[in-house]
Amino acid sequence: MRPVAVEAMLPFFSGRFANPSGSHRFARDARRAVDEARDQVADVLGVAPGEVVFTGCGTEADNTAILGAGGVAVCSAAEHHAVLHPVLEHGGTVVGVDATGQVDLDRLSAALTAETAIVSVMAVNNEVGTISDLAAVAKLVRRLAPRALLHTDAVQAVSWLDVRTIAPLVDLMSFSAHKFGGPKGVGVLTISDGVSVDPLIIGGGQERERRSGTHNVAGIVALAAALVEADDQRAGENERLAALRDRLVDGVSGAVDGVVETVPRDRKVAGSAHLCVEGIESESLLYLLDEAEICASAASACASGAMEPSHVLAAMGVDRALAMGALRLTLGHTTTIDDIDRAVDVVSTSISRLRRVSVR
Ligand code: PLP
Repeated sequence: MRPVAVEAMLPFFSGRFANPSGSHRFARDARRAVDEARDQVADVLGVAPGEVVFTGCGTEADNTAILGAGGVAVCSAAEHHAVLHPVLEHGGTVVGVDATGQVDLDRLSAALTAETAIVSVMAVNNEVGTISDLAAVAKLVRRLAPRALLHTDAVQAVSWLDVRTIAPLVDLMSFSAHKFGGPKGVGVLTISDGVSVDPLIIGGGQERERRSGTHNVAGIVALAAALVEADDQRAGENERLAALRDRLVDGVSGAVDGVVETVPRDRKVAGSAHLCVEGIESESLLYLLDEAEICASAASACASGAMEPSHVLAAMGVDRALAMGALRLTLGHTTTIDDIDRAVDVVSTSISRLRRVSVR
């Protein structure tokens, strides 16, 4: 977590512990803290404070949008499971993507019908880092399905893109604090004025009946503090981390053969390095990296006992054998040049070691 976020939340575990829905002075103090956080969040996300709904996580924000729209949902095949599963389980339509993970606009046009209640296309892909052309998606959806709501899962966008430019294009946006240096277990769904989605959680009527449940005051305050800092640092961090990402990818590709960059750099966010390594299996590589305390992911899901390549790579048409060697390395506000140089060394040595073993 960003130190500003930790610092912001600590008082709410001790002196300022009250429930903001109460009526006494301590409750009013907690309510003020939530209101201030809401104003800060609204400012960074380019919406009005009344359009901000605090949720328990990004998954809840996604589920509320998809299920609360109350009809047939359409989404891209590269969505996170937090969108994909509710769409599929409620009879929705999944639309194919191109080789970079960008939704195919022709196929999206064909999928839109008079029954379409909501279209969901992510702002930034969590596995490969591709930035979606939401302006093109919005133009198409408004023309062909004017009654449909447009949602974007912007969980991965905040550190890299100015969300104020996305907000006017869509009706609903999802966020999660732990993706920008806040705590886990708190998120945001923005709901544009005049748009109505049924709540997923009903009860005490908090968040103007849109999300019941006692507010996670410490989490909300920390989310806002992290968001404000991420917004302030965005331009500088984009530049710094793009240079470090290039050093990482070029370093590994220069040291070993058969390393394929999954998505061109100009189509993706600065903090994402996604490689497919020929002739190795991600699982073994991750084991060696973990031993050297390099935390990486393969973006593979272990389904029915067998390692399956990620649904995102499959949708992008990446060859199955190549996808089995996927390696996802992400950079963030704490990443240093020393981290990168060490990662280049360990990743390259580990790939060479695995290839030697498999030849024997
Ligand atoms: N959507 C995307 C694109 C994500 O990367 C994630 C997090 O992994 C989520 C949704 C889910 O967010 P949360 O972990 O807060 O439920």
